[in-house]
Amino acid sequence: MPIATVNPANGETLKTYEAMGAEEIERRLQLAEATFRTYRTTGFGERARLMNRAADLLEEDQRDIGRVMTTEMGKPVRQARAEAAKCAKAMRWYAGHAEELLADEDPAHSDVKDSGAARVRVRYRPMGPVLAVMPWNFPLWQVIRFAAPALMAGNVGLLKHASNVPQTALYLEDLFHRAGFTEGCFQTLLVGAGAVEEILRDERVKAATLTGSEPAGRAVASVAGDMVKKTVLELGGSDPYVVMPSADLDRAAQIAVTARVQNNGQSCIAAKRFIVHTDVYDAFAERFTAGMKALKVGDPLEEETDVGPLSSEQGRKDLEELVDDAKRGGAAVLCGGVVPDRPGWYYPPTVLAGITREMRIHREEAFGPVATLYRAGDVDEAVLIANDTPFGLSSNVWTRDDAEVDRFARDLEAGAVYINGMTASHPAFPFGGVKRSGYGRELSGHGIREFCNITTVWHG
Ligand code: NDP
Repeated sequence: MPIATVNPANGETLKTYEAMGAEEIERRLQLAEATFRTYRTTGFGERARLMNRAADLLEEDQRDIGRVMTTEMGKPVRQARAEAAKCAKAMRWYAGHAEELLADEDPAHSDVKDSGAARVRVRYRPMGPVLAVMPWNFPLWQVIRFAAPALMAGNVGLLKHASNVPQTALYLEDLFHRAGFTEGCFQTLLVGAGAVEEILRDERVKAATLTGSEPAGRAVASVAGDMVKKTVLELGGSDPYVVMPSADLDRAAQIAVTARVQNNGQSCIAAKRFIVHTDVYDAFAERFTAGMKALKVGDPLEEETDVGPLSSEQGRKDLEELVDDAKRGGAAVLCGGVVPDRPGWYYPPTVLAGITREMRIHREEAFGPVATLYRAGDVDEAVLIANDTPFGLSSNVWTRDDAEVDRFARDLEAGAVYINGMTASHPAFPFGGVKRSGYGRELSGHGIREFCNITTVWHG
């Protein structure tokens, strides 16, 4: 895959880049290692000052970088600006909280005494250069979610971004430099996926984080496993969105539309499978389908656009194949389902009903604005369908029944359960999945500690 900006709204190649060669990669690895030796000793106050400055700059750049993201991967420009704003918020959150999150811990006095020590402290020390392999769907957010805690913890970052968002990748490196971080604190490696293994095997790289597809995650985790290096993986999702009879149906249907089509439907935490109690199934299906039909599909640079094109021709082909497979298996198409005759990689908001276990879309992630509807007879069946997936990232439940809330919070196999709302990450809450959605957590105190050497300091 060439490293290039190709506008998904019309297929036009706007900019291409040469991949960095071995010498340049070596120079950057050396710089990362050398920078870490001093950066690790900086104080939280200094790091916070730089991080807050980077957040200010990002806010100032919101409009420009928003347009860049939209032309690189097709998200509606309003959402692109909102993504930049969300990044600034996370940067400030970590700037404000890192010191407290990574403060030395004192084990219980009785345990310290029991060990024969005068004092014991648990320290969170940085690990070194961390490699981040990141996807194109939230080109700023996926990176900042890693970079803000990593830099605040005293690590340095090496970014291998997706090959279709090189301008955003270079912008990020520039952003941290302009904020005053020394050159080696955060570097972008313009390389293809094929170069990742050698970089990860390098002794100077201490750990890796990857957000993306399952094959990419497996490839990176295998190499890291072979080298005994820590990884965090945030892979796909096929989140359930359960609607029970006591739900506020209008609101559940309205939010369902946003939860499915945000980011043109290309989000790991998008609700993808809509599991509706039979008592309210018809009413929900009607309102939800009407909402999906009413969306404005079009040029993502226009302010009123709700849904733009998919990020690549291949992405659209994959989605089309999933829908066609479901159609062949007997799924009913309540709206959409046909590729429009226009330039760009558009796919219409689509609702499919009558899904069976044999259909690929039941098991695979639909990375685009395609929703599947399921009918459930009771709570047990809703839980069963919700968990009948290889993924386990997040989940959504609409109910006003406390017993049902407890049941879903206990039994849904996912890294998060959102009640009467849609999944949206927040810097203060842990984010990540179970099953084949990956492992480890990002954001919150859990996220910043993933790439720390948790050190026991024992005083005799
Ligand atoms: P990929 O997983 O292929 O790409 C994500 C990142 O991983 C990119 O930087 C990519 O580099 C890199 N990468 C890919 N393969 C390897 C490898 N073998 N070793 C090391 N790095 C690798 O995502 P795609 O863009 O191909 O999307 C495919 C599907 O993945 C989607 O349809 C969706 O289902 C899922 N996905 C999930 C995301 C999420 O947020 N959970 C985000 C993106 C995709 P390069 O771009 O150079 O290939």
